[in-house]
Amino acid sequence: MPRRKRLRKVVAPPKFQGYKPYGINGESKESVELLYEEYEAIKLADYDFLNHSEAAKLMGISRPTFARIYESARRKIAKALTEAKEIVTVFGDIELDGSWFLCKDCHAKFTCPTPTEGIGCPMCKSQDVQLIGES
Ligand SMILES: [Zn+2]
Repeated sequence: MPRRKRLRKVVAPPKFQGYKPYGINGESKESVELLYEEYEAIKLADYDFLNHSEAAKLMGISRPTFARIYESARRKIAKALTEAKEIVTVFGDIELDGSWFLCKDCHAKFTCPTPTEGIGCPMCKSQDVQLIGES
């Protein structure tokens, strides 16, 4: 069995794939898609208590762009809470470095210097991964 190529970088995904409301009648049918950068914006501003300038700098974006992403994230979460919708995290418009893959099982994003056949997810070892971009 050939040795798997060492992965250069792993971006830690959110620790969940989504949130589901409970105590409602039946299943929640629609879901709200929370982009990775929106999750990051909420985390930096409301969990790490960074101000917008600091958070924008960390994410490598301008302050107005950060404010827009943050606002969008808050609206989505408010909508999910109010309308009892599921929240699903999805890969968004984040900066790509090398060849990026998305694991369809655990939604982890990871890079590999050269795309190869049979590459697996470094987080859950799933083979169900998708090439999502190259820099
Ligand atoms: Zn995975």
